[in-house]
Amino acid sequence: MSRTVLHIAIPSPLRRHFDYLAPAAPVEPGCRVRVHFGRQQLVGVVLGTADGSTVPLEKLRPVEAVLDASPLLPPDLRELLHWASAYYHHPIGEVYAGALPVALRQGQPAQLRGLRRYALTDAGRAADPGQLKRAPRQAALLAHLQRLAAPAAADALTEVAGWQGAMPRLEEKGWVLQDDTPALPPAVTAGSDTPPALGTAQQAAVDAVGAAFGRYAGFLLDGVTGSGKTEVYLRLIAQALAAGRQTLVLVPEIGLTPQLLERFRRRFPVPIAVLHSGLADGERLNAWLAARAGLAPIVIGTRSAVFTPLPRLGLIIVDEEHDPSFKQQDGFRYSARDVAVVRAQKAGVPVILGSATPALESLANASTGRYVRLELPERAGSAIHPQLHLLDIRHQRLDGGISEPLYGVMGRHLERGGQVLLFLNRRGYAPVLLCHDCGWVASCRRCDAHLTYHAGHKRIRCHHCGTERPLPQQCGGCGSHDLRPIGHGTERVEEALRARFPAIGIERIDRDATRRKGSLEAKLERVHSGEARILIGTQMLAKGHHFPDVTLVGILDADQGLFSADFRAGERMAQLILQVAGRAGRAERPGEVLIQTHHTDHPLLRLLIDEGYGAFAAAALEERRQAELPPYAFLALLRAEAPAAAVPLAFLEEARQLAGGLQPEGVLLLGPVPAPMEKRAGRFRAQLLLQAAGRAALHRLLDRWLPLLEESKAGRRVRWSLDVDPGEMF
Ligand code: ADP
Ligand code: ZN
Ligand code: ZN
Repeated sequence: MSRTVLHIAIPSPLRRHFDYLAPAAPVEPGCRVRVHFGRQQLVGVVLGTADGSTVPLEKLRPVEAVLDASPLLPPDLRELLHWASAYYHHPIGEVYAGALPVALRQGQPAQLRGLRRYALTDAGRAADPGQLKRAPRQAALLAHLQRLAAPAAADALTEVAGWQGAMPRLEEKGWVLQDDTPALPPAVTAGSDTPPALGTAQQAAVDAVGAAFGRYAGFLLDGVTGSGKTEVYLRLIAQALAAGRQTLVLVPEIGLTPQLLERFRRRFPVPIAVLHSGLADGERLNAWLAARAGLAPIVIGTRSAVFTPLPRLGLIIVDEEHDPSFKQQDGFRYSARDVAVVRAQKAGVPVILGSATPALESLANASTGRYVRLELPERAGSAIHPQLHLLDIRHQRLDGGISEPLYGVMGRHLERGGQVLLFLNRRGYAPVLLCHDCGWVASCRRCDAHLTYHAGHKRIRCHHCGTERPLPQQCGGCGSHDLRPIGHGTERVEEALRARFPAIGIERIDRDATRRKGSLEAKLERVHSGEARILIGTQMLAKGHHFPDVTLVGILDADQGLFSADFRAGERMAQLILQVAGRAGRAERPGEVLIQTHHTDHPLLRLLIDEGYGAFAAAALEERRQAELPPYAFLALLRAEAPAAAVPLAFLEEARQLAGGLQPEGVLLLGPVPAPMEKRAGRFRAQLLLQAAGRAALHRLLDRWLPLLEESKAGRRVRWSLDVDPGEMF
């Protein structure tokens, strides 16, 4: 007897779908179902139906429940997910799960939820907060609501301390009413901004992309920081809006600043769906559903937003396309930038990749004509490019990681009323704690790494596994008390700055200093108000922020990126230097950038400083061509890890032999070798690199190889994963 069988994508590491018996009523592909899977109950997505199964019917289980009456995921998105699963060789069930907001993955209903909002009554609008002298919180809340002038959701009230307690009192007085109508995700304020007249290059970019509406075309918008790329996006979004189309805007993880959102909201009086990992599950669900229903014409989000269903998609923008955070580093290791390009091709819409420092891959694509290159060579308005200079610190005394010449220049800028931004990509006080008597170094027991000394918390911490301990009073080797911090992190620089400039406001911006909610905003506010005049920070500073009064940028250690096992380290360093430099002199004040290095003759660094990113990129690309590295070759990295060092190596050796048996024409197998940091979080890691001159040859091998790896017995003793187009080589 034949029965209808459902093919279901279930989050499991197995690279296949699973069969279940269909319920009596038909279920469409794209609907979620709840099923028993082993001893668990899981939520899966229906991929399709069949009249039978390769598994005997009596062994199949029925689905427990159908969760959606109509498909949650439309056909175009499912097609994209299948493409991604095939390209990244990642299990389809995990790809589907990764595309859904957590609330939907857990089986919650796909319904926009009412956002509770609070609206002032006429009496509330007329009331005088000054009357409430004995209830300062109520007074503050009332004044805040009056300023907002529109019904406010909870997220607009958090700046009033204790608002939850004060709100019921205002309701009792008849001043506030709750309004629970289903709200679109973010509060909508009227677009009030008048756009500036475009410069010639901006206009040309807008015209070129505008002419491609309605078909696929890839554009690389290559323009220095402040050249008006965002303005180009805004104009094109306006065109898409006018045509009734949705725009998807992808930004890096730390690029989604309140400033950027504010700019979009001021320009467009429409609901904007915002999708990033900092949202509560309910907020994220609302934003996703609003995008899927076509209610939000603009969708801005980080990496995973590339998988948002968009029924009226008209344009895709990837801002800061070079940013490494577009590549997921664990689980489903996709590149959101690359998926965005494929999505644009499939949907037949234009895609813009924008950056001041394009990825070498994107530049190569532009030079072969796969992307149209649009350049914005000048800064918009009257702002001037900052001047970059190398500062030779060989033989120089460093105080807090800062040389005397740099202190001198800082003093001049501060005297003239400028602000100074210092960049050091290392948090904590010092990366090493050393015994001066015997040379012992505090290191992590679970990783091949030193522990970083954090003075603020008086602890030592591993930046790789999170292990931490109180600051030791004695050497772990000889018992001496003479333990000394070696090297500099941002905390130590801050300490030195406070000693040098006791009268000047200093803010440190890094992950440790901004952990508390709202603290980053408070720090940025003190910078913008001029209360703080010196900023010291990590790459958190490099993106999205505008500091119009910063006239001097100091890069404290350019050498970090020059010597690394990762072939992309030089590219990353150049991008970071220019991104940080781009924070300076955005207004009428010209900026100056000083870069401390021990290697003033380093050829790539020299090219970057003397001739700019374009010349640097051309030389770096030539090196890649000679070394047969991306974009002139295609890589896949098979990683394995286990609690004992020999186990992952044995699995990878077997994997290598299995690949050899498949006659991998055109694919070079390199390794296996231990990872550059072999031990991490108590596990030993090793890797096998696949290198091919052509993408097709690589994927032909992977298609045949992975099923063998899944069958491997040695494979069950390790955790292994495949990374196609790896972003990092460890
Ligand atoms: P980018 O995204 O390339 O960093 P933005 O679009 O943010 O550049 O522009 C930098 C600054 O210049 C912003 O303050 C913006 O409002 C302003 N701006 C952009 N285009 C113009 C223009 N055509 N005329 C005047 N000001 C402009
Ligand atoms: Zn010692
Ligand atoms: Zn560790």
